[in-house]
Amino acid sequence: MRVIKTVPEMSEEAARLRREGKRISFVPTMGNLHEGHLSLMRMAKPLADVLVISIFVNPLQFEPGSDFDAYPRTFEEDLKKSEPVGVDIVFAPMESDLYPEDFQTTVEVAEVSKGLCGDFRPGHFKGVATVVLKLFNIVQPHVAIFGEKDYQQLVVIKRMVKDLNLNVEIRGHPTVREKDGLAMSSRNQYLSPDERRRATRLYRFLKLAKEHYGKGEHKAAPLIRMVKEGLAEDSSIKVEYVSVHDLETLKPVDDIVRPAVMALAVHIGKTRLIDNIFLGNNLTQRRNDRKEQ
Ligand code: AMP
Repeated sequence: MRVIKTVPEMSEEAARLRREGKRISFVPTMGNLHEGHLSLMRMAKPLADVLVISIFVNPLQFEPGSDFDAYPRTFEEDLKKSEPVGVDIVFAPMESDLYPEDFQTTVEVAEVSKGLCGDFRPGHFKGVATVVLKLFNIVQPHVAIFGEKDYQQLVVIKRMVKDLNLNVEIRGHPTVREKDGLAMSSRNQYLSPDERRRATRLYRFLKLAKEHYGKGEHKAAPLIRMVKEGLAEDSSIKVEYVSVHDLETLKPVDDIVRPAVMALAVHIGKTRLIDNIFLGNNLTQRRNDRKEQ
């Protein structure tokens, strides 16, 4: 496993690999790797000759006052976790290398960046789209994997790739969860033991909504109400949003007649957590269901 820390070195290596006809798969991360990240890497490994991951805490996607400084940085442990999964190259650029002082170009994916987290994290998806486009240009991947846990992010990236005619295939990976259902996240470690226990409520009520959907409740409003009420039973959970959206356009949905996603964001103490669940018959959902049985 090779660690590359500069943009020119990574660009040269990607160009060399491409010249040799090698396929490149790519998993961008902000490090502090957990089983969710490693699963994306395991999915990416057999899709190409060379697996590249990036570790970069992207300042552009942290809105003012958020946890950029506190975000856990665990580079040495991340390397130890990456190697056994078969990562070939870890690209860990310096902030000043990706964003020199005269940097001034950003990418905005207009519609699908609105709603959900977009309403509460101004500039977040602009930061995400910009860094991912830069990383794609440097790493030159044939295929890149993103987690469905950050579902809006996945849709934003897919939209950007389509709109800008990028030559990279985007694949989603189902959300990887702790045994008690909590979606894995680097931010879970901010939770106190008591908050961590309370956080299991998120997926519990998403699953309950899905169950009711399965029994024939295809109106979004009562399903949303059920989840909001369930979460509100714990006064330490502050709901930011619970909503149902079309799986592709992310437009809010009233009647669930096409595959949809129910998504939520909450604050527990100082920690912001997101999660989602698919409603409707899409392939990924069937895959998730099989795993949970
Ligand atoms: P991050 O380091 O949080 O930026 O995440 C890097 C990638 O890992 C993104 O594509 C995330 O969606 C994905 N990811 C993070 N947590 C999970 C999880 N629990 N399950 C699946 N994918 C995840």
